[in-house]
Amino acid sequence: MKDKRFYTFLNKQIPVMMVLSLFPGLAYILLGWLNDIHVRAIIWYTLIVAASIWGYRLYKIFDFDTMSSQQTEKWNQQLSYFFYTIFVLWALIFILYANETTNNLHYIAIFTEIGASVVASTLLSPDKKLYQPIILILMIPLIFYFFSIGEWYSYVLTLFACIFTWVLFYAANSSYDLLMKANYQASHDVLTKLNNRYHFINYLQQMMNSLQATKKFTYLLLIDLDHFKTINDSLGHDVGDKLLKEVSHRIRQNTRVNNMVARLGGDEFIICGPEISSLETCRDEAMSLARNLIESLKQTYIIDQHHLYISSSIGVSLVDSTTHNANNFIKEADIAMYEVKAKGRDGVYIFDDEMSARVESRLEIERLLHFALNKNEITLHFQPQLNEQKRIIGAETLVRWNNDTLGLVSPVDFIPVAEQTGIIVELGNYIIETAFKTLHKWENDGIELSQLSINISMRQFFHYRFVEDVTELAKRHLPETQRNKIVFELTETIVAEDIEKVIEIIGQLKQLGIHFSMDDFGTGYSSLSYLRQLPIDELKIDRSFVSTLNSSINNEDSQAMIITILTMAKIFNLRIVAEGVETEYQFDFLTQYKCDIYQGFHFSKPLSEDDFIQYYLDNQ
Ligand code: C2E
Ligand code: CA
Ligand code: CA
Repeated sequence: MKDKRFYTFLNKQIPVMMVLSLFPGLAYILLGWLNDIHVRAIIWYTLIVAASIWGYRLYKIFDFDTMSSQQTEKWNQQLSYFFYTIFVLWALIFILYANETTNNLHYIAIFTEIGASVVASTLLSPDKKLYQPIILILMIPLIFYFFSIGEWYSYVLTLFACIFTWVLFYAANSSYDLLMKANYQASHDVLTKLNNRYHFINYLQQMMNSLQATKKFTYLLLIDLDHFKTINDSLGHDVGDKLLKEVSHRIRQNTRVNNMVARLGGDEFIICGPEISSLETCRDEAMSLARNLIESLKQTYIIDQHHLYISSSIGVSLVDSTTHNANNFIKEADIAMYEVKAKGRDGVYIFDDEMSARVESRLEIERLLHFALNKNEITLHFQPQLNEQKRIIGAETLVRWNNDTLGLVSPVDFIPVAEQTGIIVELGNYIIETAFKTLHKWENDGIELSQLSINISMRQFFHYRFVEDVTELAKRHLPETQRNKIVFELTETIVAEDIEKVIEIIGQLKQLGIHFSMDDFGTGYSSLSYLRQLPIDELKIDRSFVSTLNSSINNEDSQAMIITILTMAKIFNLRIVAEGVETEYQFDFLTQYKCDIYQGFHFSKPLSEDDFIQYYLDNQ
């Protein structure tokens, strides 16, 4: 199990070995001089210095983050040779000095030999291939030396030396096992026994260093289980854990030995492919692996008597040698995976230029949106709402963003970004405030409307200060008599969240006089039960239904749908607005079934404030 920590640890032992060799080595020269064996001592020391220079070079060139796995392998080989050399030299000095009894040099030799073995067994314990031969290289001459003396005490020393050798082995082996265990735990996921994120990133980094050299390709597959949380929440973490184990088992079965599989956390798994020569093959292999996985992971799981079914979303990113950042490719796979989720899950996408462009533009929107409010780039447009007699009775506020670099950005593009970044809270408040002020001003100027609608986003609606903020704004900008002209438009997705909470918030705002409308009705979770529960006042038939009303095509289904919605609204005593009315035919059809309010390009597009006032005056 060789990873970054392993190599880094060994690398750090090089300078230690150099210090331990160069300085005591000097003492040996001195001693050699005193005992007239200076030639041997100098030759020996020269070798030590040469080996140290070699070691220093190895120490310097090591840089795990930029080396490919082949390079690290080669470096590791050289490092082993370096350590063998250094310790052979220490064994050599023992052999040279062991027979020099003048000035008790042989004692020093014995001491050094034992010291060197202890050093080897501790410093080199992460690598069996290093410490095992080295302990033998050092201890065998010592054992032979004691034995060759041939006295009774020397036989005792021989025995001691043998026991000592065994102790060194025992100690080094124990640390080795401990290190391996710790290393395994640090690089593996406890639950699934797959590699963990840390290990995977290191692996990928090395893979990319290698791709730089070979100019080959590989792929990343990011696998995320769909709705895993539901299983965890409903059946408990125990079942969830067993499912994850089974999933990792199936992933392993579908991959080959040269695939690197890891669990990134939660229900997210990642696979790195082998090195592949052509981009086409790489794409094909990635897609075929992804499809196999999707199929295999979809098969029923039987866990604790539960029959579970779970699909997966897979994002693929093709890795080449152009960029050097491992995280970058994981992010790409992540974006592709989210694309799958957004398109309904249970599938696979490859990250491509179009996705990348979309992400770019999103980021650009995100960056510039931060300054939009302060730079007064946000304005409101108003789309007239008319009654059956085509008299203007209200308006819907629609936000507009005009930016120097991006031009006119559609709310369809920036509202979702504002939601995700949280800017929607501030932006939403600004929209509400402006709408309130505008309504108040219009009233003063004699522009009489019976309602003004404002779109409210989900995140804005559930923000803990929402009720408080709206109350404050209403008190500041609208007299009580005008507050009941305000309509907040909510979408059906809000209802899917937490209906109790929704009812509570609506209830609080109703006390201010604010009315509520269900926007885009019919596209989401439309159900009779929520219509009955929610204290709303208005329904807006989604424009996709209205647009199917067409004089040339007799679309009975959508006619039936619209009639049903209108009838239902009447039963629940709700006002009904048809949006997206584009033709006189649609208007005629809707009047026939007693729709209350009409809005759409047939009457007017959303207008700037000045244009709206003009439209109002013309309409009177
Ligand atoms: P929406 O609430 O469904 O708004 C109606 C959209 O339909 C508007 O697009 C409007 O210009 C467009 N529209 C109106 N009449 C017609 C028609 O006859 N035919 C067609 N094809 N389209 C018509 P817009 O202004 O681009 O707004 C798009 C969406 O952005 C809105 O959909 C709403 O969900 C969101 N949005 C707009 N303003 C705000 C806002 O102030 N706050 C929040 N949270 N969302 C907003
Ligand atoms: Ca709306
Ligand atoms: Ca709508």
